[in-house]
Amino acid sequence: MILLDGKKVSEKILNDVKGRVLHQVKIPHLVVVLVGDDSASRVYVNNKKKAAEKVGIKSSVIEFSSDISEDTLLKKINELNNDSEVTGILVQLPLPNHIDKNKVVTAISPLKDVDGFHPENQGKLLIGMEPYFYPATPQGILMLLDEYSIPLECKNAVVIGRSNIVGKPMAQMLLKRNATVTMCHSYTQNLDEIIKTADVVISAVGKKIVRCKMVKKNSVVVDVGIYRDINGKLTGDVDFDIVSPSCGFISPVPGGVGPMTIASLMYNASKVYM
Ligand code: NAP
Repeated sequence: MILLDGKKVSEKILNDVKGRVLHQVKIPHLVVVLVGDDSASRVYVNNKKKAAEKVGIKSSVIEFSSDISEDTLLKKINELNNDSEVTGILVQLPLPNHIDKNKVVTAISPLKDVDGFHPENQGKLLIGMEPYFYPATPQGILMLLDEYSIPLECKNAVVIGRSNIVGKPMAQMLLKRNATVTMCHSYTQNLDEIIKTADVVISAVGKKIVRCKMVKKNSVVVDVGIYRDINGKLTGDVDFDIVSPSCGFISPVPGGVGPMTIASLMYNASKVYM
């Protein structure tokens, strides 16, 4: 079994991004918008800021209190869209309940949508056009698999979870690589049987779902899930001890997809469309 070392590969990607930024005429400027004082969101935002500094991308954080009106937030996004100094905009999710997340995501210019969540970017991915930005997590997963020269063409890939930010774009990106993709979700029956058919399993659920001893021999297992267990320990969707002996490759939690997401986001943030 080979560990998919997201920490190591992300360092390599960040170095590449740093080189790319150094040679660009325009220094990218990423603006992260944080609404409210959710402690996890604040940690994510700080990590993104630190990563941006590391690769030479200018970054700013704009903070709003959780009672900001949707209208004020949309006006700020519009202002950032029209600011030629700003090359990337990211609104940290989740947002307070009174704000329509979809309206906010749609308000960001697709040319500055470094998260790749805008309907134009997601739509382009769906119809086989090149989006300005691919969503960071699935793009980071492909960067990780590519680093280990893992082939996807003709493989059976099972994606568990159908969120707009991971599962759905992941499935599209695997299709683009000519994998045969099965998407699973909370209504899927006989998940264990489906997992047994997979050459590649990508799980993005947020609970211990891949417990099955019978993952296919030498399969590739990517664990996107990250949450704290009842003891407060960071864990993922895959029961590592049960699953890893049968796999060819497996990503750990932490140290797998998490750092790859940040590196992939920085790759996106280094792009300048003006
Ligand atoms: P999400 O919006 O939280 O949705 C979870 C998905 O899991 C849904 O599609 C749901 O199905 C499915 N699901 C729930 N129970 C299931 C079951 N018993 N069997 C099969 N599928 C089931 O998803 P997300 O935002 O993609 O997040 C998923 C996990 O990935 C979370 O732990 C999150 O923290 C983590 N994550 C990590 C990174 C990273 O960089 N490491 C990035 C993003 C997300 P339905 O659609 O039917 O409800």
